[in-house]
Amino acid sequence: MNETEIESSAEHRYIDRPRLIHLIDDLIKELRLGENDGLTDTPRRIADMYLELFSGVDQDPEELLKVQFNEEHDELVILKEIPFYSMCEHHFLPFHGQAHVGYLPDGAIVGLSKLARAVEVFAKRPQVQERLTGQIADSIENALSARGVGVVIEAEHLCMTARGVRKPGARMVTSALRGRLRDDVNSRQEFLRLIGSV
Ligand SMILES: [Zn+2]
Repeated sequence: MNETEIESSAEHRYIDRPRLIHLIDDLIKELRLGENDGLTDTPRRIADMYLELFSGVDQDPEELLKVQFNEEHDELVILKEIPFYSMCEHHFLPFHGQAHVGYLPDGAIVGLSKLARAVEVFAKRPQVQERLTGQIADSIENALSARGVGVVIEAEHLCMTARGVRKPGARMVTSALRGRLRDDVNSRQEFLRLIGSV
């Protein structure tokens, strides 16, 4: 592998970075933006930005969540206001906001930083907010065999605020509830109250 190729860890996704830069250069030329010295290095910057913003494609969040501790704690564990940045797969424009993640352990807990990392890995893929929310919940439910999982995401989508209907400040809220946080009214209300949603 030479230094201009990026090899990502898990799936050996080889990316021909010079070709990627060249393609973005073609894209910019075809947009007929006129002569502008400031654009000279822009294809390289955009290529590297995409590689960073989509770096979660090859990573498996459930691997992160496998590092667990045995603990008899059987009440809600919540990490709230996790900031994240993701890319809308329809426009390749960012959507960003906060994720609130909670689970009811069943004998195993996980470091809080691992929950934040799992959110980040799923966010660094082409996404829609609904799927992002569900994927985070499913991975925690699977990896921890949690008795319940709740994920609420609030986000602003640049494809809606900077273009299209142009409604700055509008935030989309999605939730994914699993197990007892879905089926048990008291557990669900406790979760929503603790994340400040009710
Ligand atoms: Zn979009």
